[in-house]
Formats: sequence, C-alpha cells, structure tokens
Amino acid sequence: MFAIALDGPAGAGKSTVAKMAATRLGMHYVDTGAMYRTLAYDMLRRHVDIGREDEVARALEQIRIRIVYDENVQRMFLGEEEVTDRIRTPQVGEATSTIAVYRAVRDKLLALQRDLAKEYEVIMDGRDIGTTILPDAPLKVYLTADAKQRGRRRFLELEEKEPGKHTLEETIQAIKDRDERDMNREIAPLRKAADAIVLDTTHMTAQQAADALVQMAQEARGR
Ligand code: C5P
Repeated sequence: MFAIALDGPAGAGKSTVAKMAATRLGMHYVDTGAMYRTLAYDMLRRHVDIGREDEVARALEQIRIRIVYDENVQRMFLGEEEVTDRIRTPQVGEATSTIAVYRAVRDKLLALQRDLAKEYEVIMDGRDIGTTILPDAPLKVYLTADAKQRGRRRFLELEEKEPGKHTLEETIQAIKDRDERDMNREIAPLRKAADAIVLDTTHMTAQQAADALVQMAQEARGR
C-alpha cells in the first residue's frame, strides 16, 4: 500500500503540511504525536510519576486509547472521553517527550500505527516513522527548519491560544530541549532515514511545503 513517512523535529510544520497534502492526494493523515500526547495527558492528570518507567508501564495497562477519523480529522479519545484539543498544551508536549523514551510506551503504539498503514493509504507524521514504523514506505520525507524559525511558529500558535502567557525565548528553548530529548533517546530516536528526502521549510510557507510534498508523492506513486 502506498504510504508517506513524514518525520522531523517539533514545530517543523509536519501536521499542517501533512493535512494539506493528504486532502489533495486523497490520503489519510495520521498524527502519531497525538497518540503519545494522549497517553501523557492521561498520566499527568492521574499524577503518575512519569520519571519512573515502572510506574508508566503500569499506568499504560489501564489506558484505553481510541482514534476516530472524521472527515480526515483525527480525533483522540480516552475511553468515551474526547481529548483532541486538551492534549495540545506545552505541558503535555513536555511530558510526552519524557514518556516517549520508554519501551512499553513505544510498543503500545507501534502495532496501532502499522495497522493503520495496512488499512489506509497514509501520510503518517512522527519521529520514527521512516526508520522504525514503516521502514518500507515508498516515500520518506524529513521535514525540518531551523530552531529559531520553529520556535517562532510555535510561539505564534501559542499567542493565538493564550495571549501573553509565553515568551519567544522560552518557546525556542523548549523546542531545543524537546529536540535534544527526542534525538538522543535510546529507542527509536528522531533521525532522518537514510533514504528520506530532506525538505527544509525555514524559508517556505506551509502552502509551498505542501506543494513540494504533493509533487514528491505524485512522482513516487508513478514509480
Ligand atoms: O509531534 P508532536 O509534537 O505532537 O509530538 C510530541 C512528542 O511525542 C514528541 O516530542 C516526541 O517525544 C513524541 N513522539 C515520538 N514518536 C512519534 C511521535 C511523537 O516519540 N512518532
């Protein structure tokens, strides 16, 4: 089945670009970060000690994560409760990269992600899609941008949601910290797959990046 593995650091624009391209290509957009975020969100509110792998592994057994696709929008649920919007905070983002280093967490989501790629033609965005989840994907793209630019984009998003609550410097630093953790963990670190095409969006609009991705997909599909 045709699939696009889209990896890259936080704030590179993966989800915006993937959503735009998926609509144009008639593919299914899968946001794997949202799955990790949903697990972290539940652990935070249950006051699980996320610094302890054994506690996290135990908590995982009680989590029933559900994904619903609604007109190509990925909605996340914990049991019957929808958490799609609540997982989008900097606190949840931080906690997510803390628990994403644990084997039990990654194993829980690996099968789920591979199954989705069996069922649909997917553009799957994450950190280890090209290297670990879909190593045979016919098209792999590593989307990146320099850290300052990524920080600026993330800051503008935060300003829209919570004006005056964050500073640009703090946002850039948080992005760098998250990259550091995601790139240096032992299991499935963020890494460009050897056969991935790099798309640097530092000087591109989302529309331009989506155009580039659509073109790559059309070429790869025709191969
Ligand atoms: O992409 P997003 O910012 O939603 O991802 C949140 C965090 O989830 C990342 O910083 C990373 O630690 C983790 N993640 C991961 N593997 C993925 C997707 C996300 O480890 N495939």
